[in-house]
Amino acid sequence: MINQKKISFDITVYDSLTELKNNDQNLMSAAVKARQKAYAPYSSFNVGASVLLENGEIIEGNNQENASYPSGLCAERVAVFYAGAKYPSMKIKAIAITAASLNHEVSEPAAPCGNCRQAISEYEFRQQEPIRILLMGETGCIIECDSLADLLPLGFNSSFLN
Ligand SMILES: [Zn+2]
Repeated sequence: MINQKKISFDITVYDSLTELKNNDQNLMSAAVKARQKAYAPYSSFNVGASVLLENGEIIEGNNQENASYPSGLCAERVAVFYAGAKYPSMKIKAIAITAASLNHEVSEPAAPCGNCRQAISEYEFRQQEPIRILLMGETGCIIECDSLADLLPLGFNSSFLN
């Protein structure tokens, strides 16, 4: 028997930063500041990520590129790995991500790459609580997702290994 199913999820779209809840404005501002400190001499594509922990602390990361391209790392993984290293058992409440290019205006929300989705999903699966995701370009709207799992349907996690 063939069973067709549809996977869908809701997002919230905000026209501007001022529409975000206060704490989320702060979180995105931290991501913008981190973005401005990115090391991206090869792509000129600067990304900042800020991780809100359950203790209220914000951990920031940005992309760190390398002359040997694959040796670099995306902002999102720099941020969540730093958070995981500093607070091994602290839950992550939300992550804000923003991107800007030196070559053109990024006017759409930049979404995490597949590797980063997988990396963040590890933390979400481990803590058994959703991680809200906020996405923004340099200008334009902001997208909010309730859970990283929405961005990685049928994802792989440690439950398959047991
Ligand atoms: Zn990535």
